[in-house]
Parts: sequence; structure tokens; C-alpha cells
Amino acid sequence: MQSNISNNSNFIRLTNLPILFDSLDIERLPAATQAKIARIDACLPQTQCGLCDHADGCLPYAVAIVIDSEPYNKCVPGGQPVTDAIAQIINQDSSDTQPLNAEPSKWPIDASSQRPVEVRAVIREDDCIGCTKCIPACPVDAIVGTGKHMHTIFTDLCTGCELCIAPCPVDCIDLVTIERTLSTAERTLEQEDLRQRYHTHLRRVSKQLADSSNSKPVVSMVEAKLNNAASQSLNISEEQAKNTIAAAKLRSKIKKLEKQLSVRPNESKQLELEELQAKLAQL
Ligand code: SF4
Ligand code: SF4
Ligand code: SF4
Repeated sequence: MQSNISNNSNFIRLTNLPILFDSLDIERLPAATQAKIARIDACLPQTQCGLCDHADGCLPYAVAIVIDSEPYNKCVPGGQPVTDAIAQIINQDSSDTQPLNAEPSKWPIDASSQRPVEVRAVIREDDCIGCTKCIPACPVDAIVGTGKHMHTIFTDLCTGCELCIAPCPVDCIDLVTIERTLSTAERTLEQEDLRQRYHTHLRRVSKQLADSSNSKPVVSMVEAKLNNAASQSLNISEEQAKNTIAAAKLRSKIKKLEKQLSVRPNESKQLELEELQAKLAQL
């Protein structure tokens, strides 16, 4: 009975996928390979953050582990529990697979879950210029707002993937840590829900892209829920907005360079960093 349920959920997991995943050609793979991909995908947190080097999210990473023998320890938010769970699936066929340590996270490890501490994004609404750039970045449609109006994030829907941070030109999205304890069943259900929300997001974006008569930018499907909340126009002068955006862009570049340099020193990048810091000081 148990295996029927599991096979059925594996079947559902890999059928009727959004077109983004067509290139993975999953349907052509042998059933046993598909089952393994589905089981690994079921272990992954489904935040679709891309920290495993798969910008399209968890499923492409699961495929790469099985098909390309990619290291199975790259899911940063999953931490050691997810790495160990994937190792168990892989080790069923091969006894000589070495246990791997999970890729480290910039967030500390939560003592109860043994995963990196979870975060949620919060928009400083007073600073938001309503540019809408964060909306298409969110894989689970957790951000709502319309052009030139303040935006906000439904914290309950946010996974803390951090993908909205970089596109924000005024750096007004903060990350706050949260504490919670989830049972295995709760985590499984939540991951399934996140996966469905991501797929819904992908289908909606595909539809909008295919519709040449639709010139609107990509907006959140839950935007309607905040129709009334996003009602306060922001009055800032053009000059002020220009400077704020220029400073935010510089800060974003500086952050990226600092991150790169913390991993590997590089003379020309160091020089570039110093130039950008000097420019920012002048603004
Ligand atoms: S949650 Fe893990 S597997 Fe999914 S995209 Fe992020 S790093 Fe990759
Ligand atoms: S609001 Fe930001 S951090 Fe939260 S899920 Fe969306 S993109 Fe990720
Ligand atoms: S990207 Fe930043 S400024 Fe633009 S709407 Fe989102 S939160 Fe507001």
C-alpha cells in the first residue's frame, strides 16, 4: 500500500510539468530513473532559490544529480538533513558513494532542524518606490503591489529564497530570521505546496509571454488580494529617485564583488571594488 502511494505521488510529481522543464526530457527516461528523480525532488525544500547552481530550481537539480552525477550536497537551504536524505536514495544502488558535507550557508544552523535558519523577506514600505521589479523575481508569487505604489510581501507565502533582493533598485527589502519547528509530515506538505505554487507561477508567466496582446509587466497572481492596501502613491522628486537608484545599484555591485572577493582574492576586482566604493561615497 505504502509503495502504491509513493509510486502514485512520484507519477504525479513528474507529469504535466510546466514547459520550462521540457528541455529536461524527463518523460524519455527509464521509469526507475524517473522514480529516483522524483524521490530526490521530494526531499528538496522547493524554495527554488538557485543556490545549487540551478537557476530554474529544485527539479533541474534533482535531474542533474541523477543524470549527470552532480554532487548531491549543493542544496544550501536544505543543509545536512537534505544532503543525507539524498545520499540514502543514491546509496541504494551504490555502496561506495562517499558521504558529503552540505554546502555551507551564510545563515547559522538551527539547533532543532539542523538546517540553516530560515528567513523571510520584508519590504520597508516607506522606502519602496513601486518599481515592480521584485514581483517577477518571486517564484511563489508572494509579493503584491502595482506600479508606483508601495509593495508588500505576504510573509506566510515567502520562502526566504532571497531572489527579490538583487532586483530591488533601492535596497528596501530586508531579511528577517524566523523560528519554527516542523514535523516531517508538515515539511512534506509544505514542500508539495511550494512546488505547486512555483509551477503555477511558471505557467502564468508562460501564458503571459505567449500572449503578444498582453503588454503588462508580469504581476503577482495574488495582487488582487492587496488591491486596497497598495493605495498610497509615493511622491519623490526625479533627482532624488535618480540618486537613490544609482546608489542602490552601486551597493548591489559592491555586495557582489565583496562576496566574490571573500571566496577568491583578485587584484582587478579589488580595484573595481575600491572605485565603486569611492563613487558611492560621492553620492
Ligand atoms: S532549494 Fe535547494 S535544490 Fe531547490 S533551488 Fe534552492 S538550493 Fe537548489
Ligand atoms: S518574497 Fe522574496 S524572498 Fe520571499 S519568496 Fe518571494 S522572492 Fe523569495
Ligand atoms: S523592487 Fe524594491 S522598490 Fe521596487 S517595488 Fe519591489 S520593493 Fe519596491
